[in-house]
Amino acid sequence: MSITKQQVQDCLKQISLPGSDKDIVSGGLVSDIFIDGAKVIFSLTVPAEKARELEPVREAAQAAVMALDGVDSAMVALTAERSPGSEPAGGGGPDHGHRQAAPGSPAGLPAQAPVEGVKKIIAVASGKGGVGKSTTTVNLALAMAERGLKVGILDADIYGPSMSRLLAISGRPEANDDETLLKPMQAYGLQVMSMAFLVEEDTPVIWRGPMVIKALTQMLRDVAWNDLDLLVVDMPPGTGDAQLTMAQQVPLAGAVIVSTPQDLALIDARKGLSMFEKVNVPILGIVENMSTFVCPKCGEVSNIFGHGGAKSEAETKDVEFLGDIPLHMDIRETSDSGKPVMVSSPDGPHANAFRVIAGNVARQLEL
Ligand code: ADP
Repeated sequence: MSITKQQVQDCLKQISLPGSDKDIVSGGLVSDIFIDGAKVIFSLTVPAEKARELEPVREAAQAAVMALDGVDSAMVALTAERSPGSEPAGGGGPDHGHRQAAPGSPAGLPAQAPVEGVKKIIAVASGKGGVGKSTTTVNLALAMAERGLKVGILDADIYGPSMSRLLAISGRPEANDDETLLKPMQAYGLQVMSMAFLVEEDTPVIWRGPMVIKALTQMLRDVAWNDLDLLVVDMPPGTGDAQLTMAQQVPLAGAVIVSTPQDLALIDARKGLSMFEKVNVPILGIVENMSTFVCPKCGEVSNIFGHGGAKSEAETKDVEFLGDIPLHMDIRETSDSGKPVMVSSPDGPHANAFRVIAGNVARQLEL
């Protein structure tokens, strides 16, 4: 029988909170607990200045959960509250209302702490790699910016960060004036942060579970985002730990799933859908990428991947179909040369395809 949230909580109640007569559960440190088979994931929210001091508590919590019957792995992260009591940018307003503590977690737990300088955050995700998730992220972000919004991109695809290539960004981010945060890089009016800016290119980065969480939360929260209306997060492909953590720890207003029409990609997209549903992130809809092939010579349209698969999947799943993007050399070439199609051919049909998607996303987010 699989482990329950209640069992995990009961076990965490044995761990006391140093300097108080409470335990870590009654002290309100424990986030919503996510259980995936024999895997348990949660975070402990602590004041930033106490993070180091409370590391042994994190270790104790992790060890205690690991020792439970039916648990193979436990990932426990410390999440810092940057400035307790300060008015969060974005206000944690009604758009975050869906991220209440799930049934079974202690009452009164904070939803994920909002990210300073950011009003709304959405994830762009796919069940597998190579379906055009990053290309969609970039062009969607640009199409949103065209609507007059201040937009940023967080490249959370830490296994294969691509934003330096897709947006032709070189150099390294600088620290802000008081050296507490990194300033995001800039490209085409977007604020951008990516692991690609922080590690040497071609250096294989081997991430252990807790490092993934740390890297992602740092990339999200230790950046001086400047008054963003929308942050678009390019998620790592798939539905593993990193994705779950992101989905669980970031106050996401919604998720966009990118899929190609092929059956296999669709099966993977379904996994992506159910992952977000599990952690109560609303699905904004599905984008069908590489939908039709337009012959560059004769203009003939062919459906080499079986056009419409994502659309019918969206219908059966009762999620919105946000739009389709054709498979076209221009999209590939512009994307790979650092000049996305929204910038290189803003008047062309491909840019319009992204505008339609942006319009649908903006409407749902009430932006
Ligand atoms: P992912 O982020 O899902 O791994 P990418 O956005 O990096 O995918 O896209 C993978 C490759 O496919 C890139 O070379 C990209 O330029 C290309 N590509 C993406 N979408 C299209 C499209 N609609 N038409 C042609 N090439 C595309």
